[in-house]
Amino acid sequence: MTQARWTLVIHGGSGSMERGRLSPDADAAGRAGLHAALVAGGKILSAGGDATDAVEAAVRVLEDDPAFNAGRGSVYTADGTIECDAAVMAGDTLAAGGVAGVTATRNPVSLARAVMERSPHVLLTGAGADAFSVEQGLEQAGPDWFATPERRRQLDEMLARPDGGFDSGMKYGTVGAVAVDAAGHVAAATSTGGLTAKRWGRVGDSPLIGAGTYADNRAAAISCTGAGEYFIRLGVAHEICARVRLAGETIEEAADGMIDALGDLGGKGGVIVVGPDGSGGWAFNTPGMYRGMISHDSAPEVAIYGDE
Ligand code: ASP
Repeated sequence: MTQARWTLVIHGGSGSMERGRLSPDADAAGRAGLHAALVAGGKILSAGGDATDAVEAAVRVLEDDPAFNAGRGSVYTADGTIECDAAVMAGDTLAAGGVAGVTATRNPVSLARAVMERSPHVLLTGAGADAFSVEQGLEQAGPDWFATPERRRQLDEMLARPDGGFDSGMKYGTVGAVAVDAAGHVAAATSTGGLTAKRWGRVGDSPLIGAGTYADNRAAAISCTGAGEYFIRLGVAHEICARVRLAGETIEEAADGMIDALGDLGGKGGVIVVGPDGSGGWAFNTPGMYRGMISHDSAPEVAIYGDE
């Protein structure tokens, strides 16, 4: 009997992480979080489980980990609030769900999944999304759950800048997962607090289907991280799928091509990608990206810096 093939690729954000700039503790915390997420998602896939379940499970681990900018540990808006964005998409049916500007759901990725499976809609925002979360019985969390001193420090530092603060070139920490399961179905999920000192009400690429998140069994599953305004304008996640499906590019060529296009526009960031054939990888134009991969025939591997 041949072993069922599956692959899970995750990210914990792209950004200015260079060797020597992260403290040993931050380096170790990032790697431990990525490893735990790979194990959580890999367990589902190795048991023959579904790609959507696997990406949700992996992202939930990273949302609960304060080292990453999603769920607990999300960055602050300029007004000192926390507004989370998330999305999930299943490549076999093209079912998709997203939430933007949610404030009280412990795991925003699970709220995105509830939008996908238990509402007729694809994207819910703000108070309406928060209310839907309560109605659906998802676990609620207060501001103290999301708040971390390090994110507060980053906001204060940014607001103290003479140029007024907002800087999309800073270190990120958004999380995402893409998977292909033993049945050959792909899925993608992304979750983020967005960018430090963003305007309240600002929505990035992560919850927008086609921009930061996309999955299509005919092509690939993609989760993006980086300066969302550029990913939205390029429709990065959908275009990677379109290049594979219509132009015959490999997932690596399509991912590299879109990171080149992002750079040409002045944007920085990265993508993770899997194909229905079990191939998986990433591309980024920042010094580093928190990332990891596990598959039916390879143990969990994690990396942070560009030279790993
Ligand atoms: N793409 C996210 C956003 O723009 C941020 C990130 O990936 O770090 O909201």
